[in-house]
Amino acid sequence: AQDRVFNFAAGPAILPESVLRKAESELYNWRGSGMSVMEMSHRGKEFLSIIQKAESDLRSLLSIPSDYAVLFLQGGATTQFAAIPLNLCTQSDPVDFVVTGSWGDKAFKEASKYCKPTLIWSGKSEKYTKIPCFDDLEQNPHAKYLHICANETIHGVEFKNYPTPKNGLMVADMSSNFCSKPVDVSKFGLIYAGAQKNVGPSGVTIVIIRKDLIGNAQEITPVMLDYKIHADNNSLYNTPPCYGIYMCGLVFEDLLAQGGLVEVEKKNVKKAKILYDAIDESKGFYRCPVEKSVRSLMNVPFTLEKAELEAEFVKEAAKEKMVQLKGHRSVGGMRASIYNAMPLAGVEKLVAFMKDFQARHA
Ligand code: PMP
Repeated sequence: AQDRVFNFAAGPAILPESVLRKAESELYNWRGSGMSVMEMSHRGKEFLSIIQKAESDLRSLLSIPSDYAVLFLQGGATTQFAAIPLNLCTQSDPVDFVVTGSWGDKAFKEASKYCKPTLIWSGKSEKYTKIPCFDDLEQNPHAKYLHICANETIHGVEFKNYPTPKNGLMVADMSSNFCSKPVDVSKFGLIYAGAQKNVGPSGVTIVIIRKDLIGNAQEITPVMLDYKIHADNNSLYNTPPCYGIYMCGLVFEDLLAQGGLVEVEKKNVKKAKILYDAIDESKGFYRCPVEKSVRSLMNVPFTLEKAELEAEFVKEAAKEKMVQLKGHRSVGGMRASIYNAMPLAGVEKLVAFMKDFQARHA
């Protein structure tokens, strides 16, 4: 539609137009209930049908095995940085962290309040542009789990193959590549993701956890962070973020209608390729610092050789209705987030603009 922009924000981020239209059409009176989803009791049959459908569609999308629980929580991925060690560890348990960007670093720092994390690898000295070869790493033989951030939103670094830790379990922050491609859930003890990048609005955090890991929370664990409380109550222990869960459900329906995550991944690969190709073929006018084999399909950071043109780039792009291209304040430069809902046309328009901008400023 004419009045919409192409929104390259990292999150909250673009949502599928069809989902917004559907939500709009159901906003005032949800399917004859006489009320909107925002006004419903979270214990009424209408909302129960919404949350159950959202869960079952997510289970289909990711082929989540039946021995895993799906929890719809609040507090963002940031809350999980604490909830995970509180639920999976004692205060003295060691855990391993591979830190490939600033989100993993935040998770590591928070975990150190509730267990004994070791940084077994950090990409910081190389400005978070790499992912290590897992076989070369020394793991703690008693580590309760290995934590990774599957896709670093700020640095644009994405795991392409998931390691299999020798000991313990894999725990992954998938906030910024959740549902962007198929994942073998059975490789993980726990997967968590804030919804506001690929699957919905902010306010919903999804946790997928192997059921046998539930029920060992530390005594000091606040009730709202205890997975057992939420699992036993099907995410309805207290009032959940009802409208956000409804929106996630619409996104899951849309992803299934596209043919599921195999098809979604194909589209994401294609979009990312044309953007990275444009950067790599610009003869250095644009640069992406990330090692080629681990470049994110979701968040594409790049700089301009002439850094003084960056503000102009962002300004001119915005005039052409391509917004939120400024990089994270901690790294500068540019970043184009091209989540599931970013249409190919948006990336094509950006690439055409980049070529034109270069021609005018080279
Ligand atoms: N992890 C990753 C990979 C993220 O991108 C973000 C948010 N940008 C967070 C964690 C923090 O998420 P929240 O704001 O939902 O707490």
